[in-house]
Amino acid sequence: MAEIFEYAPAPESRSVVTLRDTYDLFIDGAFTPAEDGTQLTTVNPADETELARVAVAGPVDIDRAVAAARRAHENVWGPMSGLERGKYLFRIARIIQERSRELAVLESMDNGKPIKETRDVDLPLVAAHFFYHAGWADKLAHAGLGPDPRPLGVAAQVIPWNFPLLMLAWKIAPALATGNTVVLKPAETTPLTALVFAEICQEADLPAGVVNILPGAGETGRKLVEHPGTDKVAFTGSTEVGRQIARAVAGTPKRLTLELGGKGANIVYDDAAIDQAVEGIVSGIFFNQGHVCCAGSRLLVQESIAEELLARLKTRVTQLRVGDPLDKNTDLGAINSAAQLERIRELTDSGESEGAERWSPACDLPENGYWFAPTVLTGISQAHRVAREEIFGPVLSVLTFRTPEEAVTKANNTPYGLSAGVWTEKGSRMLWTAERLRAGVVWSNTFNKFDPTSPFGGYKESGYGREGGRHGLEAYLG
Ligand code: NAP
Ligand code: MG
Repeated sequence: MAEIFEYAPAPESRSVVTLRDTYDLFIDGAFTPAEDGTQLTTVNPADETELARVAVAGPVDIDRAVAAARRAHENVWGPMSGLERGKYLFRIARIIQERSRELAVLESMDNGKPIKETRDVDLPLVAAHFFYHAGWADKLAHAGLGPDPRPLGVAAQVIPWNFPLLMLAWKIAPALATGNTVVLKPAETTPLTALVFAEICQEADLPAGVVNILPGAGETGRKLVEHPGTDKVAFTGSTEVGRQIARAVAGTPKRLTLELGGKGANIVYDDAAIDQAVEGIVSGIFFNQGHVCCAGSRLLVQESIAEELLARLKTRVTQLRVGDPLDKNTDLGAINSAAQLERIRELTDSGESEGAERWSPACDLPENGYWFAPTVLTGISQAHRVAREEIFGPVLSVLTFRTPEEAVTKANNTPYGLSAGVWTEKGSRMLWTAERLRAGVVWSNTFNKFDPTSPFGGYKESGYGREGGRHGLEAYLG
């Protein structure tokens, strides 16, 4: 057993963030309260303290935002040259970099994820998405989509709470680069960084109406995607809501992309570098508390090495630090909401009652806030709910296999198809496996690596359309 030693607290300063009591909607370049005055409260899930009150967009506000986006598209943003649009995107990217410490702290406070991740993963990727798409803005004629691809018009975009600012970047950067204007709804529990992003749009002198941000709950999202005045709907979230949106958009001329759930398999063959694989398994399921659509939530390990691998995995998980998200040494932060915590509890308990063996390291969870210890479930069969349903939390379901054929069959035995990982020293085995996996992304001897140049998206119930890379541009061009 590795020695566990204490780290001194290393808290990041909250003083880099100036919280306002109230945040308004961002419509047509200006912050305005909701027409009917409705507000929601966003809390810090690590201690349940109230962070701010935030305006909730209703039908009148949505009408105004869509009309502003339409005017901006027709009069300013659509006709503007790609070269000029690119300059705005470069400017936004640079301001994000300048304000990245503030944004990282705010994201951590509103979402509960560790500062180590917002600082080293979310924010660098957010800036990278804007830089990457800024570079495309004046080169769209060379994207292989015809000599003069045209923007679609106004995009309605709805995003989840697990990577609030990063999902915003995945949505807004390609839309703007291609000449579309946007109305975006952030998730109810994590609206704050999107509203600071609205400030950044002002700071960058982005023309009014090009970006509109409408906080609210599911009802605001539903009204926005059903609004007849938009040309495109882009959604990231659950498969259930994705289905509703597909029904709402069917029969309209609107274009639709859906990025939905997943139940990614992380396949470890007997010849894999075992310590490296353990690190990949840990990052695959415990990164961002497992609130990751492409998480490696099903470990498929070859039977002959299962015992040794699980022993090493448990030793490693015992060393994870769970607690204050603003502490720079924290590995696992808070679960984003009481509702999500309840879903994780219910599903994990069902695993136990269906006969799985449940293991967590001894760890002291903070008294206030929403917390769930890292958990490993073994003794699982394909029929168990925890092998099939997305838990979206720090819970790993372990299955074993004997042959490569069995590994592939089990990995593909899911309604989803978003991600997979393959761990082996043999290139031929790697390629043989990757070719047979029905997953949008397959990582080889690594996991959870993201890059704006690389398309991301799913098969089957994980959705359709791609975000990132040249493929992602196609989703915003006619
Ligand atoms: P969700 O309930 O589907 O919510 C996603 C977004 O849709 C939120 O902004 C939500 O508002 C809004 N919404 C809720 N009901 C709506 C409706 N009827 N019409 C339009 N919008 C509606 O999902 P979640 O529980 O927040 O997020 C977790 C899920 O998202 C997981 O299943 C995960 O796999 C998936 N996800 C997928 C990807 C991907 O790239 N494929 C990325 C991240 C997450 P509220 O915030 O108010 O509920
Ligand atoms: Mg919050």
